[in-house]
Parts: sequence; structure tokens; C-alpha cells
Amino acid sequence: MTQYSRVSGSVGLITLKNPPVNQLSAVVRHGIVDTVQKALSDPKVKSVVICGQNGMFCGGADIKEFQTLANMRGPPLIPMIHSIEAADKPVVAAIEGGAFGGGLELALGCHYRIAHSKAKVGLPEVTLGLLPAAGGSQRLPRLIGVPAALSLITTGRHITAAEALQLGLVDQVADHNTVDAAVKFALSVAGQSLDARRISNFQCPPVPNMDALFEDVMQKVRTTARGAIAPIACVQAVRAAATLPYTQGMQREKELMATLFTSGQARALQYCFFAQRVVGRWSMPSGARWDTSKGRPIHKAAVIGLGTMGRGITVALAQTGLSVVAVETQEKQFMEAKKAVSNMLERGAKRSGKPLAHGKITYSQSLQAVADVDLVIEAVFEDMGLKKKVFQQLSAVCKPGTFLCTNTSTLDVDELASQTHQPELVVGMHFFAPAHIMKLLEVVYGPRSSPELVAVVMELGKKMGKVSVAVGNCRGFVGNRMLKPYRDQAYFLLEEGATPQLIDQALEEFGFAMGAFKVSDLSGLDVGWKVRKEEGLVQPGGGSGKSARIRNGVRYSPLGDLMCEQGRFGQKTGRGWYQYDKPGSRDARPDPWMHSFLEEYRARHGLVARRISNQEVLERCLYAMINEGFRVLEDGIAAGPEDIDIIYVFGYGWPRHRGGPMFYANMVGLEIVLERLEHYAQANPDMPTLQPCSLLRKLVASGSPPVNKWKEVIKNVRSQL
Ligand code: NAD
Repeated sequence: MTQYSRVSGSVGLITLKNPPVNQLSAVVRHGIVDTVQKALSDPKVKSVVICGQNGMFCGGADIKEFQTLANMRGPPLIPMIHSIEAADKPVVAAIEGGAFGGGLELALGCHYRIAHSKAKVGLPEVTLGLLPAAGGSQRLPRLIGVPAALSLITTGRHITAAEALQLGLVDQVADHNTVDAAVKFALSVAGQSLDARRISNFQCPPVPNMDALFEDVMQKVRTTARGAIAPIACVQAVRAAATLPYTQGMQREKELMATLFTSGQARALQYCFFAQRVVGRWSMPSGARWDTSKGRPIHKAAVIGLGTMGRGITVALAQTGLSVVAVETQEKQFMEAKKAVSNMLERGAKRSGKPLAHGKITYSQSLQAVADVDLVIEAVFEDMGLKKKVFQQLSAVCKPGTFLCTNTSTLDVDELASQTHQPELVVGMHFFAPAHIMKLLEVVYGPRSSPELVAVVMELGKKMGKVSVAVGNCRGFVGNRMLKPYRDQAYFLLEEGATPQLIDQALEEFGFAMGAFKVSDLSGLDVGWKVRKEEGLVQPGGGSGKSARIRNGVRYSPLGDLMCEQGRFGQKTGRGWYQYDKPGSRDARPDPWMHSFLEEYRARHGLVARRISNQEVLERCLYAMINEGFRVLEDGIAAGPEDIDIIYVFGYGWPRHRGGPMFYANMVGLEIVLERLEHYAQANPDMPTLQPCSLLRKLVASGSPPVNKWKEVIKNVRSQL
């Protein structure tokens, strides 16, 4: 796991060997301690170089060890790094590929750092709910100053070798063989004094108005952290570096780390890290899997309908280097879309530093233009009749074997597939707005969808930088299906006495990016109104009394319909659940009108307002959503809880430090979730979504196993169906 050799006569070369990223697992740490000792005690060795095999310095700690006691077995990282720093021979880190987390902390313990020009460095611990606790929070500010260290440590962002050189984090950048450059460098500094090279001896570079700086950063971090504690602990640790001697700073780093390590947040964030990998290993109920299904290359794709979604999808496809045919039938939309796509591509190129992808797109107002493409993504209005017609046309126009995908948010993918000659070549590709930015892609397969197509689309998602999750076909798929009971509960709570602000505040304090009503204002109340009207659910004027709030025997809130009747569509009309300065403005302010509107509504429906607590908001909205999640699992729509959690974290603003709805249910305790659902279901017999799902009962009866063991229970439940 660690190789040692003597090179160029007097340089001890230590190579970390632990694929894929040379993580600092217990054996590697053993190897480093042993080989450093060997090099230091060999009189022929005058200096040392540490590098990693296969063009990668070190990806940091082995996260799997966090979950076990295994990391306690090997030599601890802190004394290991201290002994390197204390060495009386110069130690040079040769950074190829990357030095992340513990890997960068190891490099900071070395006396010199040489990085390849393409290498990146960073301290991403905060993204796992931790802080750089092997001296990283104490050494980095001493080396590059407090503001730059705060920026790196509180965000976990990776920086390029060029930026690292500018900050003084590395001493030299090599364009070619970094290890050769480091060996040459090590020879040149052999025998030199190391007093000025041991970072732990440095004072942090002074900062004017330090208190004000930390106050300002802390405020910013608190706002963006949305309840996550690790970024706050990171600021506190850097403050310790700036104000305390090194040893006391290390003590503070240790205390803060202990708090984080035992917090549920670190567990949730580490779960997300692994869950993301789990969803990549997709499977279908037919038994088809990621490792046995092979896709085929896509060279040319088409997008049909260049509205909000089609524009973003066109950009996302073009940015992967594909040729894209973009089709829009309405003249006005066609002209606007061309301009909008071009602007989006320019902004994207500026952000990423990658070349513009304009030349990859051809525009057309005719569907005939897609005859020779390999894959089509349909993004016309959410109207089954229209979509069916488009799929019939596509099936007639496209060459045989063309993959046909729909970006529908809720409609039946199988029904669309049945309009084509090759229904096995149809899937849903459910993007999220804005489609070129949002990370999530729900890949919706039907019973007839071919595994080859799922493989193609999952791969395409990866190329677009998406986190793709393969799910089964049902109304709303996973994300929107679970969102419905959550939203319904928010409406019912309004009827019962809450305000939009009260509900949104409770959800935002929980960590959601936006509360349910702010999201509704953003996406437009008219979208759901149109669907409800088509479904025959809307009664003009909303009616009165209890019967007006029941549809098909189930509780229904006409509040959203009444808002739409008043022209309150949300941000786009400047009025919705909140008021806005002008149409299109985003700054939501409570609207006193809502108060009288709700009072009048309650009076008309014989409802008496009561005090609603934050706890009730969270329990009713979140547990209703979680309950639907259990149904999704029971129905086999999602392969496992990880799929649901990743969909919610990447597509619905669920706070990552709470791991996703199913992980959160497990953290709260499944028996508690069950008990609260039973309580609310009993109080509201007309809300079947609050009736606990049988899978939840089965899990509780099986002793509430941890999330990663749910699949076994689900398998048993499904085999009994
Ligand atoms: P939109 O109204 O902004 O755009 C639809 C576009 O399709 C319009 O420009 C329209 O002119 C065009 N169009 C209609 N018929 C056409 C045809 N026969 N050929 C070519 N173009 C045609 O709608 P949108 O918000 O982009 O939604 C499109 C689809 O994406 C819907 O199915 C919607 O449910 C889904 N979706 C929307 C969102 C969202 O947040 N807006 C998110 C996920 C999925």
C-alpha cells in the first residue's frame, strides 16, 4: 500500500498505493509511518518525496472507515503528519491529480509542495459534515491567510494548481512529470534549514478588523448553511487558528470535530455521498442492471418544444458536444428561444471556461428535421393529447431505432410509448428547471422500456453532469408523486389556521431552500390549476361548507383554485401566496390581503382557526411525504430509499445535511413516524395519505432496521403481494 525506494542517490521516494485515489486507510498510514522512519534513519537519504501512484496524490481519508472503528486501528493522522513536519530532512509533496481532505493535510505537513498544472487541491470535509481535523484548519490559515482559508474550508471547493500557487499553497507548478520535478527540487533543498518551512510554527498573517471579518463570514455562513453545523464549526476552527497558539488551536479543532463527528448531520452527509453511488448502479424490476446493460453511442439528438424546459435541455445537450436539432413550431417562441439559448451558452462558457457550443445546434420549425437523429427529447406543453400526437409524428418521421424520450412531469410514459411503432424505445427524461443547471434527472422506464435505452439515457445524464436516477412509471414518478401529499398538507394547514409565512418559515428552518408556498409562487399557481380543471376537480367559486372540500371521498382544498380565480398566479403576476414589487420580481413579502382572504374562506367553510405549531407543520408535511415514499418503495417505483433521497436532495431542495426524506425518517425513528402518522390519520379520516403505509408498519415490526437494510424487508413485502 506504500512503496519505498531511493532515487537519484539521496532522495527517499514514498509512493502511496491505494486505488482508486490512494485514500489514507489504516494500512496506508502504517506504510507512511514506516517508510518515513526508514528514510529519516537512512544516512544516504538527504531528502524525501511523497507522491501517489497512477497520477493521483491522495483523495483523503477512507470514508468507509468513518462508519467503523477501523480508522482507530492504524496510526492516527495527526501525529503522523506532525512527525513529517518535525523531520530534519526536507519532505516534498509531489501533487499529481489531486490532494483533497486528509491528502492536502498530509501535503501541508510536508515542507514543500509541488503540484502538476492540472492538479486540484481542496479541503472538502465540510461537504461530509466535518472539518479538516488533521491540522488542516490550523495550518491552512497560517499558510495562505485567514480570508482565503475561510473561503476554502467553509465551502470545500477545489482549486486549480494555478490558484494554489497564487495563494502560496503550493511552491511550484510543474507542467510535465511532477515526481521528477519534486525529486530535482528535493535534491536542491537537501541540507537547508527547515525552521521557516514548518507551517505549525507560523503566525497567521494579520488581518485588519479581524472580529468584524469573522462576524461577517459567520453571518454569511449561517444564512447559506440552512441549519448545517459543519460550516459554522469550520469558521470557529479557523478563528482558533487566527487567535490561539498552534497547540491550543489543535485542541479546539479536536473538540469541534468531536461534536461534528457524533452529530447526525455528518452521518446524513456521508450517507448522501454513498447514496449517490448506489443510484448509479441502477436496476429494473425485469432484472436488467447497470452492469449487464450496454447502451450505444448518441451522436445527434433533438429537442421538441423550446419553452422553459426545451431551451435548458438544448443547452445541456450542446454542452456535452452533441449535435442538437432544436424544434419549435411557434414563430415567436422560435425567435425568442434562439436568443435565449445563445445567451445561456455564452454564460455557461464564461462560467466553465470551456469553448462555446453554438455550432452544435441547428434550429427548425418542422418536425421533419429530426429524421436522422439518434435520440429525441420532447418538451412540448403538458397536454396528453398534444404529446400523443407528437409521439405519433416522431414515430413516423424518425429513422428506425431512434430513442424517444419525454420530459413530462406527471403524464403516463407508457401511454406515450403506445403511440409509437417501437414502444420499447420510449422513456421519460424528467429534467428540473432550469434544465441546464439543475443536477437531477429522473429516468422513467415503463414495463416495455429496453434496458439498452435506460443505459443510454443514464449515460447521457452523466455526460450532462446530472445525477440520474432510474425510476418506474406512475403519476408524478417519484419526486412529484411524493410532493403532492406534502403540498396538500400545507394547504390543509392554511385552512386550519396557519399562514403561508408560518408554514414556509417552519420548512425553511428545517433546511428547505424554499417553503412550499414560495415554491408555488415561483413555479406558478396556474400550472396545477390547469391540471385540476382538466381533471374536473375545480368548482368555480370554491363552494362552501365541508362538502365543497371533498373530492371522490378525499379531502381537497380549493384554496389554490380560488387564488387563481383572483389572477394570483405567483411571481409572474406579482401576487400569489405572497406579494411582490412587480410581476416577475422574486422578493416575497407577506400580503395583508391573505389574512382577510383566509378569514373569509374559513367562515364560509365553517372552519375555526387554531394555533398551528412548527412541529405540526413539519410532522404533517414531511411525514405525509415520507409515507408516500414508503408506498413508492412498496410499489417498486424506486429501487431503494437511496433513490428517493437523492431525488429529493438534488431536485427538491431537501437539506442535504438531513440526508433525504427516507434517511430522515430513519433518524427520527420509524416507530415515531408511524405513531405520529397514526395520530394524524385518526384525527383526519378524510386524508388517506396520512394512513401509514404497510411497508412502514412492516419495517417497524422488523425492528426498524437501518436504511441500508430496508431492501431485504421490501423484497419480502413485494414477494407476498
Ligand atoms: P412551455 O410552455 O414553456 O414550452 C412548451 C413549448 O412547446 C412552447 O414553446 C410551445 O410553443 C412548444 N410546442 C407546443 N407544441 C409543439 C409542437 N408540436 N412542436 C414543437 N413545439 C411545440 O413548457 P415547459 O415549462 O417548458 O414544459 C414543457 C414540458 O416539460 C412539460 O411536459 C412540462 O410538464 C415539463 N416540465 C416542466 C418543468 C418546469 O418547471 N417548467 C419541469 C419539469 C418538466
